Amino acid sequence: MNGLRESKATCCYCGVGCGVIVETDGQRVTGVRGDPDHPANFGRLCTKGSTLHLSADPLLQQQARALHPEMRLHRGEPRGRASWEETSGHLAARITDTVRRHGPDSIGFYISGQLLTEDYYVFNKLAKGLLGTNNIDTNSRLCMSSAVAGYKQTLGADAPPACYEDIDHASLIFIAGSNTAYAHPILYRRIEAARKRNPALKMIVADPRRTDTARDADLHLAILPGTDVALFNGMLHLCLWEDLIDQAYIDAHTEGFADLKRTVRDYTPKFVADTCGISEDDLVKAARWFGEAPAALSLYCQGLNQSSSGTAKNAALINLHLATGQIGKPGAGPFSLTGQPNAMGGREVGGLANLLSGHRDMANPGHRAEVAKLWGVDDVPATPGKTAVEMFEAVRKGEIKILWIACTNPAQSLPDQKLVQEALQKAELVILQEAYRTTATAQFADVLLPATTWAEKEGTVTNSERRITRFKPVLPRPGETRHDWEIAVDVARRIEALLGRTGTLFPYADVEQIWNEHRESTRGRDLDITGLSYRILEEQGPQQWPFPEGATAGRARLYEDGVFPTASGRAKFVNTVYQPVAEPADARYPFRLTTGRLRDQWHGMSRTGTVAQLFSHAAEPAVVMARLDMDRRLIRDGDLVHVTSRRGSQILPAIAGDDMRAGQAFVAMHWGEEYVSGRGGHGVNALTTSAFCPSSKQPELKHAAVKILKAELP
Ligand code: SF4
Repeated sequence: MNGLRESKATCCYCGVGCGVIVETDGQRVTGVRGDPDHPANFGRLCTKGSTLHLSADPLLQQQARALHPEMRLHRGEPRGRASWEETSGHLAARITDTVRRHGPDSIGFYISGQLLTEDYYVFNKLAKGLLGTNNIDTNSRLCMSSAVAGYKQTLGADAPPACYEDIDHASLIFIAGSNTAYAHPILYRRIEAARKRNPALKMIVADPRRTDTARDADLHLAILPGTDVALFNGMLHLCLWEDLIDQAYIDAHTEGFADLKRTVRDYTPKFVADTCGISEDDLVKAARWFGEAPAALSLYCQGLNQSSSGTAKNAALINLHLATGQIGKPGAGPFSLTGQPNAMGGREVGGLANLLSGHRDMANPGHRAEVAKLWGVDDVPATPGKTAVEMFEAVRKGEIKILWIACTNPAQSLPDQKLVQEALQKAELVILQEAYRTTATAQFADVLLPATTWAEKEGTVTNSERRITRFKPVLPRPGETRHDWEIAVDVARRIEALLGRTGTLFPYADVEQIWNEHRESTRGRDLDITGLSYRILEEQGPQQWPFPEGATAGRARLYEDGVFPTASGRAKFVNTVYQPVAEPADARYPFRLTTGRLRDQWHGMSRTGTVAQLFSHAAEPAVVMARLDMDRRLIRDGDLVHVTSRRGSQILPAIAGDDMRAGQAFVAMHWGEEYVSGRGGHGVNALTTSAFCPSSKQPELKHAAVKILKAELP
């Protein structure tokens, strides 16, 4: 092997959680290939995963990596190089002093679904246990908090009931609000393979755009943005009308159907077709295919979640599954796909401002007492903390004084960038814990804490199908970088000393001790993993939860016995009512702007943006419009246009896309300030709205009203 060695890891991009075999020479990653034994991908990798070694190349990253701590004491000064002793001591002193003067809620943590479960666990304990604030939220709020709320309201727990293998057993795959071919490519390969094997397997795609996924569908429902609840209620109306519901299942395993039945009476085919902008024939076809399918599997993602009615959209789709008995059996169920590699792990440890460890509820005094006992603190605060958008609003208002950001780039990824930039300028102290010093957020950081990243870390992640994978570092830590959990623990112990606490809540000598504590927090819960250990994960490979003590395997599929983790043991129908988008198009802002992912880029491009070949699919940002709209405005392909919302403006080249209906526009989420500087903006989030779902607090990143005008030549 010429001194080369191979180790197993997972891809650090999407929530499919593919296993990779990493080849290293001890200093750099020399190659990657799919792990044939990993049940998420069986050896396959997409374009992003197969170039992981290029994005991890130390030479490529030399300019981009944060390699030593940096700090400034006064705004306006450049940050200077500092030692860990100086930075950790400074942070502990500032945080302790601020908590003493303004209370614990004057501190906010904004963390990330890219962190490992162990990192997430420590951050939550630091905020909710040691400091006594629930002001800890994550960029996963932007991608799946509506799915969390939808599952909890209907099924009683935040647990996707299906698994990847269900694709092989389904007779209908219903994809809603997901361009799976781009966003979860390896899962999509599995769908393609299943359809090839079984030509009778039908696929419906509900998406405003005719994406590559929609083009492959047997039926594409090109609904108007934000009308999903009307669609799902309309399908249920038709299933009722045509006697396609499973009354025996409803009677035995659910409650609340009578109210919903009354509501969906109003969702007549005519009303739904007009609201959604689709034909009545297509609506009827979709309802019949769903209701008659021996096994219907729904896959859904940001099109449902990133919405001001995201929870209702999730619940309405789950209603449809419950009413037709399409859950708890092979090939059936509502299955939300997670965007980030460890959004699921973050949910497990309660890594959101309204959740507690082990899927416990903050509002439940018994749950708070359990967590307080586990952590060895007197109590855990009862009031939910500020969620992503609320947190930046609170910073802008001066309520939150210190903001600690870990492994995420809010100066690009949060909606309504004007608000975010003002907040980051207003904060008394911005702490950024990052692997990269080149992100848009780095310019606001008063303290930069250099963190390790993919291939350098040890710990666990959980993918979309509840499967936990453990991996070890394959590269040495570059420069003075530290692991994310180590950075948090060092500051936490110093705060404990300043507070005069005896002993420590953070006694961890290694990452396994953190995982063992997290494991214990799940005992008796729906996600119980007390039967798992690092050793089992290493010897037997990735495992799904639940995996309670005494089990020999995890559970692939949930609710097969029809018993749900609610007080009554029954699933609950939610009475979902269609609400339009927060900012409808009007005469001043006539275009419906949607945002989304491209095939070869990931989030804000900190990593994929360093790999030249990943730009062959799309070299620069653009606004995609219908040819008809361009012709009417005398805009030719490549012409620069102003795209303007009520919050900001961007100049972008326009390109015609046959995936767009007239009146709609699409801009990919990936490009930020550095790519459009001089063209006025902070990526597409200069345009998006911070309106959010009242239940999940997930922002409506999928829709904003904009106007598009041809830019004048200088
Ligand atoms: Fe990585 Fe997702 Fe591609 Fe798999 S499908 S290789 S997890 S980006």
